[in-house]
Amino acid sequence: MLEINENYLRLPGSYLFSTIAEKVAAYQAANPGRGLIRLGIGDVTRPLAPAIIEALHAAVAEMGDPASFRGYPPDQGFTFLRRAIVEQDFAARGCDIALDEVFVSDGAKSDSANIQELFGLGARIAVCDPVYPVYIDSNAMAGRAGTYNADTGVWSGLIYLPCTRDNGFAPEVPAASSATETPDVIYLCFPNNPTGATVTLPALQEWVDYANRVGAVIVFDAAYEAFITEEGIPRSIYECDGARTCAIELRSFSKTAGFTGLRLAYTVVPRELVRGGVSLRDMWARRHGTKFNGAPYVVQRAGEAVYSPAGRAQTGEQIAYYMNNARVIRDGLSSAGYEVYGGVNAPYIWLGTPGGATSWGFFDRLLESAGVVGTPGAGFGPQGEGYLRLTAFGGLEDAVEAVARIREM
Ligand code: PLP
Repeated sequence: MLEINENYLRLPGSYLFSTIAEKVAAYQAANPGRGLIRLGIGDVTRPLAPAIIEALHAAVAEMGDPASFRGYPPDQGFTFLRRAIVEQDFAARGCDIALDEVFVSDGAKSDSANIQELFGLGARIAVCDPVYPVYIDSNAMAGRAGTYNADTGVWSGLIYLPCTRDNGFAPEVPAASSATETPDVIYLCFPNNPTGATVTLPALQEWVDYANRVGAVIVFDAAYEAFITEEGIPRSIYECDGARTCAIELRSFSKTAGFTGLRLAYTVVPRELVRGGVSLRDMWARRHGTKFNGAPYVVQRAGEAVYSPAGRAQTGEQIAYYMNNARVIRDGLSSAGYEVYGGVNAPYIWLGTPGGATSWGFFDRLLESAGVVGTPGAGFGPQGEGYLRLTAFGGLEDAVEAVARIREM
């Protein structure tokens, strides 16, 4: 009899978005005339920018011509795209990243889930709490997370780095004297989903120094880098000294340029990242070559167009549009007395639930009284209890109307 991977049986049901969908359906059945404002799901709504559409059309035409047709793409990605990435995302910011350290892929979700394959099953994993759930679930599927306690929402085998209002939702490096176990892998995501928090360069430098000191690897998810509006916030972990010996960085075109449907991302693994005498860059190249056959040519041409002057300007306008929504939500709710975080360098607003309500209690109230859908913070980890996440990815009218409705509640 086949033995299945029983680690899958330890996963809790992904009830968060299905429970939200059920509650929303029940509300709509009971209130057929009331328009619903969805500020729950982190998907973009603006169409692709003209420069990207133009590049897509041109690449599609090439695929229909025998002289320019392309089959399998190179599995690390086309040089034209990796060159644009290296020059504009890194060299322009003083970060030294080589072409062969960039691995183009179809998404940061898959990269963030797959990267754990490079680590031994005994590797101790540290995650922020609250957290983007993929980091935990992918390690749980591999058998590294221990068992899940449904009452506490805690996995027995993980090291949790609490992100609370007291630490500005940025975890502290474990002190040498602390009881916290030393992690082998540390997942950090800044600007953060779900809290919208960021870290300063000195704070990130502390993590890099720590990782180099203890031999840990940092998986740095910079999917929301393009939403940074303030000075002094690192856009890449490679802005820190010594990051090339301890950090892997994930980037995505999804939120930066509206590619959630097209699918394009990349991962950087520097050559100096060596553990047990083995290059993690070479391991990732081997994995990529075996398990991935490359992102589509037309999509990589679309990705290249994001780096053109027109592409930069047009995607910049889209990001500014979303960040204006974030400002409307943030300012509107904060002036109404709500405890509001995020929304300045990230498209997420992290709302403290008023009057000590639970995340789900406030979710229900918001839905029933205002017809606004958020995401209960408890769905992102135990420290998310008492918060609700709102996203800025809708239309401006929705942001304005949602704020007006919530203020009237
Ligand atoms: N990383 C974080 C922190 C995210 O919030 C998301 C999407 O919501 C992703 C990665 C996934 O990105 P992609 O669309 O490239 O798979």
